[in-house]
Amino acid sequence: MSRAEDDAGNGETKGQPPEGHSCAREPDKIKTRTCLGCRESKDKGDLVRLVAGPDGVVVIDYKGNLPGRGSYVCPKESCIRGAFSRKQLQRAFNGARTEGVEEFLNHLRKKVLERVLSMLSISRKAGKIVDGREAVEKGMEKGKIVLLLLAQDLSAGSMKQMTEKCLSRGIKYYICLSKDEIGDFLGKGERVAVGITDKSLSALLEKEFCRLRSLGSMALGGNKCLR
Ligand SMILES: [Zn+2]
Repeated sequence: MSRAEDDAGNGETKGQPPEGHSCAREPDKIKTRTCLGCRESKDKGDLVRLVAGPDGVVVIDYKGNLPGRGSYVCPKESCIRGAFSRKQLQRAFNGARTEGVEEFLNHLRKKVLERVLSMLSISRKAGKIVDGREAVEKGMEKGKIVLLLLAQDLSAGSMKQMTEKCLSRGIKYYICLSKDEIGDFLGKGERVAVGITDKSLSALLEKEFCRLRSLGSMALGGNKCLR
């Protein structure tokens, strides 16, 4: 039976670095948790924490800072569906109530999307983004752009041109949000593309984009999140 683990160390496994891995992290600093879906032990940072709220309903603790005993799941549709179908959440939380799997997936997609917008906002405040097609294309030519976000409602012709440019220059791109949504977030009119010019911010954003993809984000208002 899988019981919720608390962060004081109950059920915590001390991970070892992968074989042949020369990572300088101390083995005892790698905190691993087991996914309720696939049962694999993974780095805590790659999993999503769940806690039972005061009303006895299991909630997603995306920031990982809510009090209480936590349990973990991979941010993947297959793991979440597996955990729900085998009633792993109820077992982990001693019979606490959960929402339905579809609602749960939608909530999680929303949390990831909120994180994407928050990361974009941080990038913008730090002056690490380029927006609008002309500026983005110039940035790409100059090799300034590390990661590109393309609006999902870009016309087919423009989408083809932009993605081909990304592929020829080895720039990673994701298709997510609409032109209006991107413009709103920037406080401007509609925008077809946003380029991120900072490597570490791009890496953080990419992690969230990959999560959206693993969560089958097509269900989220038709959002696509393709590489
Ligand atoms: Zn899993």
